[in-house]
Amino acid sequence: MSINCPECGVPDHLCQTRFDEFLVLEFTDAGYGAVHHLTVATYMVQHSSKLTREGWLHERELLREFLIEIKPPAFIRKQNKDLVDSGKRKFKIKSRDGLPVINKTTWMKTILDVRAENAAVYCEDVTAWAKSTLEDSEKISQV
Ligand SMILES: [Zn+2]
Repeated sequence: MSINCPECGVPDHLCQTRFDEFLVLEFTDAGYGAVHHLTVATYMVQHSSKLTREGWLHERELLREFLIEIKPPAFIRKQNKDLVDSGKRKFKIKSRDGLPVINKTTWMKTILDVRAENAAVYCEDVTAWAKSTLEDSEKISQV
């Protein structure tokens, strides 16, 4: 029996398997690793049960900064690190109850739309997945 992921809708929870495989690719090949920041933020936005409400809003904001404001990942990493180091961040990112923050199960694109046969195609598809997910998530008014 196949059970769809209750958060992104893909069959058999393939999203988790695919995500784990992609992280390995990204850590072992710099060509794939170039979009690591997008892969993680996009996956998290689609799987809000892993996050607190503030954490989800933070990940969505990160996507916006990467894709719309075109801030480089290194810059954002430093900003975030400063926040964490100085204890200025007032919220928790990781969910404690494992309940979804948003009520959404269908997305224009999921991680299954990402092809991985080479780094160029991979980066293009992750970016398209990230953009459509940002677009989808910005329509959510109740968080
Ligand atoms: Zn999923």
